[in-house]
Amino acid sequence: MYDVIIVGAGSAGMTAAIYAGRKKLKTLLVTGPNIGGETNSTNDIQNYPGYEGPGPELMKKFWAQAKKWGAEILESRVASISKGKNFTIEFEDGKKLDSKTVILCYGRERRKLNIAGEDKFFGRGLSTCTTCDAPLFPNKETVVIGGGNSALEGALELARIAKKVYLVHRRDQFRADEVTVEIAKKEPKIEIITNHSPVEIQGDKFVKALIIEEVNTKNRRELSVQGIFSEIGWETHTDMVTGLIETNAVGEIVVDALTRTKTPGLYACGDLTSIPYKQTVISAGMGSIAALEAYKFVTGSLASHEYAK
Ligand SMILES: Cc1cc2nc3c(=O)[nH]c(=O)nc-3n(C[C@H](O)[C@H](O)[C@H](O)COP(=O)(O)OP(=O)(O)OC[C@H]3O[C@@H](n4cnc5c(N)ncnc54)[C@H](O)[C@@H]3O)c2cc1C
Repeated sequence: MYDVIIVGAGSAGMTAAIYAGRKKLKTLLVTGPNIGGETNSTNDIQNYPGYEGPGPELMKKFWAQAKKWGAEILESRVASISKGKNFTIEFEDGKKLDSKTVILCYGRERRKLNIAGEDKFFGRGLSTCTTCDAPLFPNKETVVIGGGNSALEGALELARIAKKVYLVHRRDQFRADEVTVEIAKKEPKIEIITNHSPVEIQGDKFVKALIIEEVNTKNRRELSVQGIFSEIGWETHTDMVTGLIETNAVGEIVVDALTRTKTPGLYACGDLTSIPYKQTVISAGMGSIAALEAYKFVTGSLASHEYAK
């Protein structure tokens, strides 16, 4: 029986493990397929306080610190979680373990473009995070793919930095808020191209062009760009916790300010939650809150703000 099982070893999960370990909770950190998580996708973190450099290097530091404070590590994937008196965690290989609390930190999955060059150029000019990577493209030619709020807001953010921003959308109408669409239409650096789908990313070591295709005529056009931002959305998988959590309109796990879900003892942190800003520092901060809440749950102690009442 564990005090806490942490599902996922990105910045949220590893921070939760550091905090749980320091509280001497019997802690298991389940890593999943990618130790370090999405922060490994960027080679230039500029906004993590106290650290600037490659994402994987920062995650190695998190990993070393999580292990130092005594979390047991299990390199496996969680398949499902159920609740009786305690939580039972079932792994993909059929193994089962019990815990008094669970912290969900397994992130989300990006929707893929499914076009040639996507895997080769990911992190080499192709990004799925405009907020994170737009500052890497000052005075460059760029393209944003998508038609929702993330795409439109991303294009506007890029327009403040880049020389040129194409906005490519496969339909003739945007899903984004009308007011944002109107602002984007008035922005001189943005060229909107509707009814076109991306078909291929070209380049050598880094991106040099995006090939797009008119959806009806199939006529192709080459956009000469150095940066491509795929803003076609993310998916949060919640099958493993069906019935234990609530989701918002876009499928994210709803939490309160203390990372609590609707099930006592079940917490969620980072990118998979309803908290809107998906950033390494935010996931880490939420991981620390969840571990402190789990400690309170396991020991029955009061949090400092409750003593004050
Ligand atoms: C291209 C790119 C650039 C970025 N740049 C920045 C930046 O410069 N600055 C910044 O602050 N943020 C940046 N971000 C955002 C940042 O990476 C994320 O906000 C952060 O990684 C979220 O951390 P997380 O722990 O919530 O989830 P993740 O990092 O997604 O970690 C999820 C973990 O869960 C594991 N897992 C998945 N499924 C299972 C399962 N079934 N069982 C067990 N484990 C599982 C995974 O293996 C992984 O270890 C960037 C993101 C991208 C995509």
